[in-house]
Amino acid sequence: MGQELILCLHGIGRPHDGVTARESIFWVTRQAFTTLLENIVETRATVDIPALMTFDDGNASDATTALPELFKRGLKGVFFICAGRIGSPHYLDRAALADLVAAGMEIGTHGKDHRNWRGLDEAALDAELGDARRRIEDVCGVVVTKAAIPFGSYDRHLLRRLRRERFECVYTSDRGLARSEAWLKPRDTMDSTWLEADMRRVLTAKPSLKARLRRNVAILYKGLR
Ligand SMILES: [Zn+2]
Repeated sequence: MGQELILCLHGIGRPHDGVTARESIFWVTRQAFTTLLENIVETRATVDIPALMTFDDGNASDATTALPELFKRGLKGVFFICAGRIGSPHYLDRAALADLVAAGMEIGTHGKDHRNWRGLDEAALDAELGDARRRIEDVCGVVVTKAAIPFGSYDRHLLRRLRRERFECVYTSDRGLARSEAWLKPRDTMDSTWLEADMRRVLTAKPSLKARLRRNVAILYKGLR
């Protein structure tokens, strides 16, 4: 049974005005980002688990900073875009999205207005899931088959609804390795506190037994509530 390591990043550089204090911890410096990429390249030589980079929120730094650094190293990424932010200041616009697609990056959906999907009524979910996906497909000229859940917040009702939307894969923020064939995939979210030792620990997929247990309990709870 194959496994994969999925990293979740947000903005790179200084957080812009649209980033809340709570979210700014997920912004990392360009230096930290390139250190991460170098460690990915280095650890893949000995660790037999593929590493996938994902980027949430559709910040402009996806194209200005992440894209050239990934491209230079022959790495690929999946970019989860909020449909309602396309073209807004500090976020990806049509041209930047075209650059990502042209470079072979994959585009997924992160909804419309970066809302917590858990507990939304059907009409709001229609806008966040169906309408947002169609808008992203329209702007980017690609088929969107993947979704990333905002704030990693879900319950069994939301998962059932996401299944109905027929996404190929849905990404959470639950940490740890994903099974390659799984529909719901956990990701390790990098934040501004990560040192190189933290990157190595995640990239070599050696969490403590306690960390694994804690994660499995959390996933079980979220999927059942
Ligand atoms: Zn987000």
